[in-house]
Amino acid sequence: MSQRKYTPRHGIDIDNVLRDFLGSVTYAFTGKWDTSWSDERNGIVSEFFGGERASLTAWMQNEAPWESMPVEDETVVPGLYQLKEAGHKPMILSATHSVLKAHDWLDRLGVHDLFAEFHFVQGSKKAHVLTDTIIDDNPSVFASVDKWDQRRGHSRLIVARTQPWNAGSPSDDHAHVRVSSFGEYVDGVINMFDESKR
Ligand SMILES: [Mg+2]
Repeated sequence: MSQRKYTPRHGIDIDNVLRDFLGSVTYAFTGKWDTSWSDERNGIVSEFFGGERASLTAWMQNEAPWESMPVEDETVVPGLYQLKEAGHKPMILSATHSVLKAHDWLDRLGVHDLFAEFHFVQGSKKAHVLTDTIIDDNPSVFASVDKWDQRRGHSRLIVARTQPWNAGSPSDDHAHVRVSSFGEYVDGVINMFDESKR
């Protein structure tokens, strides 16, 4: 057992970190699951998000297939349990379009009780929730958190859950680390905060 007294706080995004939101959107429009990133899928998703704001919100609230959204990868559930069992504090940090349905989704997955805090805030406001690490897929979140932390001298690890849309040029990448699965993130942060290994 670790002798660590401090409980590390981790801000965890939901969509496209814990669950395959964009895959689900694509499915709603094409009727098939496509886990690859193709020009066709890119076009569908771009068109979807480029649509009119009011209709987008209505679709999110009424028609999006929230109930059937699968996990982003198979390490999500075991990773969350591993983090909790290691004495860490997983916290939801999400700008989801449906808060109640996000609670339902986490509940159905059997991981809702692992989270001590739920912060449903706009991406640009995620930095205001003080954590030791943050994992997200949105490059504008990496940038706003980095800017906020630098201005206040806050030290926080910014982790990018790698997705096709966040693989930008290194010069404007504000993420400190990139991971290709949730489990990779969990292994990294447990190792980082485990004082018994130092
Ligand atoms: Mg996201």
